[in-house]
Amino acid sequence: MTSRVGIIGYPLGHSISPAFQQAAFDELEIDARYETWATPPEELAARVESLRAEDVLGANVTVPHKQAVMPLLDEILPVADSIGAVNTIINREGFLIGANTDAAGFTRSLEQEARFATVRKRALIVGAGGAARAVAFGLAWEGVSELVIVNRTPERASELARDVSEATAAETRGGGLEDIGGSDGVDLIVNCTSMGMAGGPDPEGIPPVEDLLKRGVLVCDLVYNPQQTPLLALAWERGARVLGGIGMLVYQGAAAFEFWTDREPPEDIMYSAALKALM
Ligand code: NAP
Repeated sequence: MTSRVGIIGYPLGHSISPAFQQAAFDELEIDARYETWATPPEELAARVESLRAEDVLGANVTVPHKQAVMPLLDEILPVADSIGAVNTIINREGFLIGANTDAAGFTRSLEQEARFATVRKRALIVGAGGAARAVAFGLAWEGVSELVIVNRTPERASELARDVSEATAAETRGGGLEDIGGSDGVDLIVNCTSMGMAGGPDPEGIPPVEDLLKRGVLVCDLVYNPQQTPLLALAWERGARVLGGIGMLVYQGAAAFEFWTDREPPEDIMYSAALKALM
């Protein structure tokens, strides 16, 4: 029997997960098909129920369902519970487990691609949505000493900062975009907004971090389409180091693949397939 996995989101036109996940199944000769399950909110409960079938290994979950799926599952793993979002569902004989691999995907990309040692570093996160929550917890778990979270809607940043402070040792504070000025001397800047994303609400946008872009700072953008976002182009010009979002995407997917299959994911194959799908 051919097994199935899929991505649940709405709309789903932009997803490159099917390309690199299928490449991994094919490489390891696992008889499985990765499908695209566009699911409007009113169909989410039925979609999740369908994952209990014998031939389903699990699913990826993306916007706008990462939080809404949580009460529909049988167990939430602690990492997903802290972050407050599920991006991976694992079907164990009809019992559905919710996991979050975004935090690990991001910190793996930092370590693997940028060779960035997180311990005792100071970081600035712009954004407070689902991705920012995963990045904030990931950085705090990896030992950043200080975390500043700023967002267009300041209340969301403050709420995330409070959640991270309560659960980890990182000194964390939240605020509005106007508070970025007080972040001079940070080692790491992460754009977790959709500014700069092709087809997004502000494709030419750059978060207002211009004054912090300098030599010695690592600037990460979770946006992976385009690979060189306006923020990364400017950071590069100013002499900062830069890291795009493709690594996080591949490593979160690799961790999900391992949950579904208990096999070591062929990360290099997945990475090249993701790059190819983006072109
Ligand atoms: P989300 O939950 O919808 O959050 C969007 C965030 O962007 C919010 O903080 C929002 O601020 C902010 N924002 C949107 N438009 C803005 C604008 N014009 N000016 C300033 N702030 C703006 O989305 P998400 O899931 O966190 O995803 C955020 C980005 O990360 C997306 O571009 C997504 O593609 C990317 N991402 C990448 C990966 C990866 O693996 N590389 C994984 C997940 C997400 P408000 O709170 O004020 O609305």
